[in-house]
Amino acid sequence: MANVTINDECVGCRTCAGICPEVFEMKDGVAVVIMDPIEDDFLEDVQDAVDSCGFGAIELTD
Ligand code: SF4
Repeated sequence: MANVTINDECVGCRTCAGICPEVFEMKDGVAVVIMDPIEDDFLEDVQDAVDSCGFGAIELTD
């Protein structure tokens, strides 16, 4: 299990929502997390999203 937060650096590029729509959704121009805590089955996709966010806006914690 892990938790994910979006920080103030999000510019709303939609990359994370494209990679893992089960966890990330766009709202009011920025990403929001819609799964908390993250189910283990989605951890790999979430890590992909973390690595793909060019703004360092996704924070993954155990
Ligand atoms: S990939 Fe990063 S910058 Fe883009 S919408 Fe997601 S959190 Fe925001």
